[in-house]
Amino acid sequence: MQFVFPPPAPAAVPVVGDSVFFPVHRIYCVGRNYVEHAKEMGGTGREAPFFFMKPADAVLPVASGAVGQMAYPSRTGDLQHEIELVIAIGKGGQDIDPDLALRHVWGYAIGLDMTRRDLQSEAKKLGRPWCTGKGFDHSAPIGPIHPVSQCALAANAGIELKVNGALRQHGTLDQLIWSIPEIIAHCSKFYALQPGDLIFTGTPAGVAAVVAGDLLEGGIAGLGSLSLRIV
Ligand code: MN
Repeated sequence: MQFVFPPPAPAAVPVVGDSVFFPVHRIYCVGRNYVEHAKEMGGTGREAPFFFMKPADAVLPVASGAVGQMAYPSRTGDLQHEIELVIAIGKGGQDIDPDLALRHVWGYAIGLDMTRRDLQSEAKKLGRPWCTGKGFDHSAPIGPIHPVSQCALAANAGIELKVNGALRQHGTLDQLIWSIPEIIAHCSKFYALQPGDLIFTGTPAGVAAVVAGDLLEGGIAGLGSLSLRIV
């Protein structure tokens, strides 16, 4: 096949302890999947979770032990952090049975669903799409992917985010309203999941603004840490 110009390199995320990369197909994100965060966003905590998307090349990969750099984005005065567990899909499927859903997981990573909250809030008010608030360039910083064969992700693993050393968000994965298998099953009702899909699973309470110079340090027990400097 000949192209009118060279196609861009695929978006990709490093794999922990390996030289190979995980090629990114799509990025799905679950909204309001922890009760206390759903409440801080104005909900009751009982609504069914829903999905939105970011472009695949919104990933900002951060290698093990490195401090990533994210430029403060344009057109916002309220850039907020959302620390999240990310599911990396290795086997595609549609209408996946929740009981078999974990067979579709290739690995897990720590991600940040960075959000231009002012643009998202305005879009909500006007009934407009969230794309500019959620799906902007470099809006998905992500640490290396840990293959399921090599990581022990406990059901009650802790998830936390510190900003400049101060704890801002913390919770445990058993606080997810919809579990990992349920998220995969539900997402696959709307979209044909494919190898390379990433699913951001929602954030615990405590989302807040960051400014240039801030150091974000996210952690999930069993998956190490993710460090990011806003510049
Ligand atoms: Mn989120």
